[in-house]
Order: sequence, then structure tokens, then C-alpha cells
Amino acid sequence: MNSSKKAIVNSIEKHQARLIQISDSIWAHAETAFEEDDSSKILADYAQANGFAVERGVAGMPTAFVATYGSGKPVISVLGEFDALPGISQKAQPTKSPLEDGAAGHGCGHNLFGTASLGAAIAVKELIETGKLKGTVKFFGTPAEEKFFGKIWMVKEGLWDDVDVNLSWHPSAKTEADVQSTLALIDFKVEFFGQAAHASADPWNGRSASDALELYTTGINYYREHIKPTVRIHYHIQDGGQVVNVVPDYSRLWVRVRDTKRSGMMPVYERVKAMAEGAAILANVDYKISLISGIYEVLVNRAGGAVMQKNLELLGPITYTDEETEFGRRIQQETGKPQLGMDSDISPMEVTKENPGGGSTDVGDVSWNVPNINLSVTVAPKDTPWHSWAVVACGGMSIGHKGMVHAAKALGMTMADLFESPKLVEKIKSEYKERKGEEVYEPMVPEGPPPIGNN
Ligand SMILES: [Zn+2]
Repeated sequence: MNSSKKAIVNSIEKHQARLIQISDSIWAHAETAFEEDDSSKILADYAQANGFAVERGVAGMPTAFVATYGSGKPVISVLGEFDALPGISQKAQPTKSPLEDGAAGHGCGHNLFGTASLGAAIAVKELIETGKLKGTVKFFGTPAEEKFFGKIWMVKEGLWDDVDVNLSWHPSAKTEADVQSTLALIDFKVEFFGQAAHASADPWNGRSASDALELYTTGINYYREHIKPTVRIHYHIQDGGQVVNVVPDYSRLWVRVRDTKRSGMMPVYERVKAMAEGAAILANVDYKISLISGIYEVLVNRAGGAVMQKNLELLGPITYTDEETEFGRRIQQETGKPQLGMDSDISPMEVTKENPGGGSTDVGDVSWNVPNINLSVTVAPKDTPWHSWAVVACGGMSIGHKGMVHAAKALGMTMADLFESPKLVEKIKSEYKERKGEEVYEPMVPEGPPPIGNN
């Protein structure tokens, strides 16, 4: 490890107790998309207290912010998420038990995500302050990753235009430089409008919006036979009528289409939209389609990934106490998984797959606007069901804390590499240009402000 990396590691260890406190506080607040007022403030205040210039409420979102330190080139940034998921509240214990019935919980570990990234940015800032590194470091506080995808509006605002390389990470059940893409996704709302009537006395006066909804989902489900295996179609019925003795005059669904690439997703999206007209004709009702938001697949950068991988190897694996291993085994037992304990070995960098499967993230949109380096770090035992109480449990105790501190170090060390090697930055940029090719990025959101206060 060179002296900059040693200084990064020392800084993170110096701030470790405070970082854990911040992460635990965000974990306990467990605020969902666009309601992350306290979580965002905790991080923004901490950045400000550490000498960053903080711009709050960027891109029309009160909980989005940018923290900047330094001046000139290069400009290196890191992403921090902090939103929770509804309904999966859980105590920091290995058996299922909500902290508060029905409340939200950090089932994706975003309390660790935001805090680790800010910890890394602060460590880099300290090296800029002493003159050891030259340039600018930015931390992006990015809200609503789990719903609506706040980063799209930040990208649309051009917030990454002056950035040379961006870094991101995600809590995981394994530790690796992440060189896999994600799925592109598009969300839209379908509404049907009919005529209400008594369901028994005069049903001939009624035109049923819920008939249209059922015909529509039937159409989607028939269509599944004719889509490519990489495509996913999901829907959530948000309103299917209120009571049994009224012909419903209104129904609403949230529909989502995904594919490994945006280019494959768009024709499916057009087809699924067109089916709404068919259903409306069959049920003799009116319909309306509204785009909610859509995100790109992640543009991988292997040159950046290789730098991250080297730093993971320098750091070595995370080590666990017997109590932590036992905690992990208990989680595995409770979720019906083999009791293998924690997996903190550093996996070798994978071949980038053509069809990665898995989920989607609005990091994708950032990655089409600036070269992006991704990292996964273990914060939960192997095979843990994600977006579940089990991840919430680990994120509020030492297994999650260890992963967070580890991620902060790996991010900070990789940023130090980028500040110290313009050649490396150029290599990463040229891979980015090559992968992006002729594709012109178009944000997939409707005109107007982000959907704050909507659900
Ligand atoms: Zn997540």
C-alpha cells in the first residue's frame, strides 16, 4: 500500500465510530423514497462539518444533495443512497421480529451505502487538504433509489457533466469488483375509467374498469409466451375497485417492463402499452397511460473494475468473530438456507456476462453519462434473501458495520489511484467511450418535476 492508501485507511479508522453511529441512525429512521428528510440531513450535515460545500435540494428533490471539496481536475465522485423499503421493519437480531409493526426497514443496506461512500469522500478530502492529492472530490446524496429513481433527475440536471470518473458500491452477500450490468427498466401507470352502477340492480348501466384491468393483465400473461427469456414484465394492481356491490368506474395498475438492454426493452414496452387500448375496447371503457420513470442498464467499466479489484486484494478479506459467524448461520437457518456462515473472500473479477439477470438500478443512468466503477461488499451471510428482514437485521449490527468500513476503504483507495494517475483516468474514459458508442442518452422521465408526494 502506498502512503496515500495508508492515509485513506487511517482516516476511515479514525472516523469509524462516528460513521457507524451515522449508519445506525439512518437505519433506525428507515425513511422511504423522497421522505428521507432526516437521513439526507444527517449525511449532508456531516459532509458540511467536514469542510465540504454542500448544495441541498438539487434537481428539484429536497432530499438530494451534492457535497464538493477541492478545485480543478480531476473531478472524482461517489454515490450515496439512503432510502429504506416499506413494511420490512426488523430488529438487529437473527430471528424475524419487527422493530415497529408495518414500518419500513433498510432491506437493501442503503444506510451502509450512503455512509461508507461519504466516509471515503472525507478520507480523500483530507488528502486534498494536506496537498497530497490535487483535484475535486464530490459526494452525491441520491434519494429514492427503491422507487422513482432519483438519480435520473440529477443526471437530467447535468450534475455529472464535469465529473471524470464516478464510483459506486452496493451492499451484498459477497465482496468483489462488480463488473456485471443490470437490467434496464421502465415503469408506467395504466388507468381505466368506466361508469359506476349497482352491481345487481342495474349492472347494464355500468361499464367496469375492473373488467378492463382483468382483460389487460390476461393479455399481458398470454404475451409472456412470446417474449425473450431476458424480458421481465411485472404489474401491481393499485386499485381494482372498492366494494363488491358497485360496478367499479376506476382501476389502476403500476406496470414494469425490463430487459438486459434498453434497446430490447423499448419494443416490449410499446407492445404492453398498446394492450391497454385492446382491454379498454373489450370492456367499453376509457384508458390513460402515464410514464412514471425508466432506467438504463449499467454500463460496465472493466478498466475501473480492475483498479478496484487490486485494492480489495490489498485490503484482504473481512474477518468475523464467532458471534458474528453464529449470527449469520442463524439467519441462514431462519430463511431455510444452508448454514454456511459469512462469505468474505475476495472473488476474482468475473467475465462480464451478456445477460446478467438480477435487478435494476438508477446507477445505470449515471453510468451512461460518466465512467462508473462498481463495488460489492459483504454485509450479510451467503444466500440471504435480499429486500428482506434478514438484510435489515445485519445492517444494524457489526456484520453490516464491518462491510461498510471495508467498502469505505476500497472506495477511498480507488479514488486515490484515480487522483494519482491521469493515465488511468484516460484508460477508464476511453473504455467508457467505446462501450457507449453512438448511443445518445435520453432520460426516461416525463416532463416536469420529480413525482414527490405521489405513490
Ligand atoms: Zn439497493
